Amino acid sequence: MSVFLFPNDYLQTVNRFEVVIIGGGLAGLTAALDLVSKGKQVLVIEKNTYPNHKVCGEYVSNEVKPYLQSLGLTVDNGQLPQIDTLQISTSKGNSVEVELPLGGFGISRYTFDNQLYNLAKRKGVVFLHDAVTQVNFQGSDFRIELGRNDGIEARMVIGAHGKRSQLDSKLERHFMTRKSPWLAVKSHFDNPGYPPNLVALHNFPGGYGGLSQIENGNVNFCYLVRYSDFKKERDIDSFNKNVVSQNPFLRDFLSNAHAVFTKPMAIGQISFAKKHPIENHMLMCGDSAGLIHPLCGNGMAMAIHSAKLASTQVNLFLKNPSYTRKEMEMNYATAWKMNFEKRLWAGRRLQGIFMHTKWFDFGIRTLAQSKFLLRNLIRTTHGTPIYS
Ligand SMILES: Cc1cc2nc3c(=O)[nH]c(=O)nc-3n(C[C@H](O)[C@H](O)[C@H](O)COP(=O)(O)OP(=O)(O)OC[C@H]3O[C@@H](n4cnc5c(N)ncnc54)[C@H](O)[C@@H]3O)c2cc1C
Repeated sequence: MSVFLFPNDYLQTVNRFEVVIIGGGLAGLTAALDLVSKGKQVLVIEKNTYPNHKVCGEYVSNEVKPYLQSLGLTVDNGQLPQIDTLQISTSKGNSVEVELPLGGFGISRYTFDNQLYNLAKRKGVVFLHDAVTQVNFQGSDFRIELGRNDGIEARMVIGAHGKRSQLDSKLERHFMTRKSPWLAVKSHFDNPGYPPNLVALHNFPGGYGGLSQIENGNVNFCYLVRYSDFKKERDIDSFNKNVVSQNPFLRDFLSNAHAVFTKPMAIGQISFAKKHPIENHMLMCGDSAGLIHPLCGNGMAMAIHSAKLASTQVNLFLKNPSYTRKEMEMNYATAWKMNFEKRLWAGRRLQGIFMHTKWFDFGIRTLAQSKFLLRNLIRTTHGTPIYS
């Protein structure tokens, strides 16, 4: 039997778990919490340590609030900005404001992921900080290969390793063969005048950015841009000055705000391509199964919701010998498609319009006349509240 040094300061002589979760982001941590609360033995393998910042808009839809609370996370202690209004503007500065059907809250990924991690640790989830390099299904069990430690075996594996990982290349996933044109940039700003109840989406040539407050009163500014447009400028500073600031709302914001990060964070190769919810018999969760366009503002809610769907299936499979692996996989794939396929489709269509300067300008002027239509558009990319 192999011996692993786990970071929890004790030596474990276990090399087999009921459930291994690859990736400890929102999807992985939620699935871990759900399964451990159902009495399962869970190992999360996460390549990074906590806490750390992630490129994200940091607006969380309220659809997952009751479920998070049922898992033991405090999301309603009066500390988090409660967001009930969406503002959208075009590069020219035409804008519309609408009350959000469900609303949401603002929280940095630094805090959100770390709170879930600490809760999961307290509830008995085991963590190993290493990179998964390969996963082999061996008929009834999995063998998981790691960068620095010996391999691990598991009855069930959940893939929650985010939008893009070296592991996806090893698994020969199709989207890894195609280049993606998208780049994202994020930074926190000190801007005391920014309204805590507002999430804003502002368009600029080649991209769009979101603004919303987080737990400490700072404002997160995160934008998505086509790499071909971005590279016309020298660096992020000149892109912000010459392109982002063409939108008058963003120009005002940037000229009144002070960056809190010494350097903005940036990631490339963000793929919105279709993926499969089952891969090599693993149930894929969160962005590993599909990433919705950020303008919809509910990728995190989808990651959390998909973790719930996967945990339900894994729990049924592990406790019921007559429930076959094939049935579990089929039922997860069906549930995933039922819940998310339409939203991803709507997100792709909306993004197309958002990026088309003329249509978008026309669209916003039309939507300003009909908030009912706008609220319905928002509903097509969101779900209804989910509970335990
Ligand atoms: C620009 C942008 C803005 C966004 N804004 C919003 C927003 O405002 N609201 C919203 O709801 N959603 C937003 N999203 C979407 C949201 O960020 C994601 O949907 C969400 O982070 C998905 O969580 P996840 O757990 O699937 O992935 P992640 O949070 O990325 O977690 C994956 C984890 O897996 C780990 N990992 C990767 N490979 C390995 C490996 N081989 N071995 C071990 N560990 C590994 C990573 O270190 C990471 O911690 C945005 C996305 C983008 C790109």
